[in-house]
Amino acid sequence: MTIAVYPGTFDPITNGHVDIATRAAALFDHLVVAVYDRPLKTLLFSTAEREAMTREALKDISNVTVQSYLGLTVNLAQSVGARVIVRGLRVLSDFELEFQMALTNRKLAPDVDTVCLMTGQRYAFLSSSIAKEIAMVGGCVDGMVPPHVAAALKDKFRRLGAAAGSKVQIVSLRD
Ligand code: ADP
Repeated sequence: MTIAVYPGTFDPITNGHVDIATRAAALFDHLVVAVYDRPLKTLLFSTAEREAMTREALKDISNVTVQSYLGLTVNLAQSVGARVIVRGLRVLSDFELEFQMALTNRKLAPDVDTVCLMTGQRYAFLSSSIAKEIAMVGGCVDGMVPPHVAAALKDKFRRLGAAAGSKVQIVSLRD
């Protein structure tokens, strides 16, 4: 049985991620989609939110499980018995980082190899950041993210907007 891990930040999961996970699940016996707990990135969603949204997005794929993790991806891979790390490649600029990470991971754990799947053409320019930027200014993200993620983005920015508004109000009241 070949187990693979698809690690990422998934802040939030997009249809590009879903496409990679769906195709990887068809290639391997079991796919663990692993949501990194503390990436060196500014996050919009908490780990629990990212994990829940990812689980909901992939719930119809029977050989996929979703979990969050801390620490090295190769350690997680070894702990779940995975010999493969799946990553997605979009434009050329992804390559350098993925190449560096794949070689580093192989040095750390020679028994774990990286498999990069090419993006689906329609998702080539889709990223979590782009979906967040569009949603932040009230744009439509249908087709970019699953419907429950679109709703979560809308809700998050409404709350953040309300919080920012009340801060402004507090500041102006103080002034
Ligand atoms: P990370 O912070 O680890 O890059 P991301 O959630 O941004 O986490 O991405 C996880 C993986 O999914 C990466 O390998 C990334 O290249 C890939 N990926 C992200 N968006 C797409 C997409 N639209 N098409 C294909 N792969 C993608």
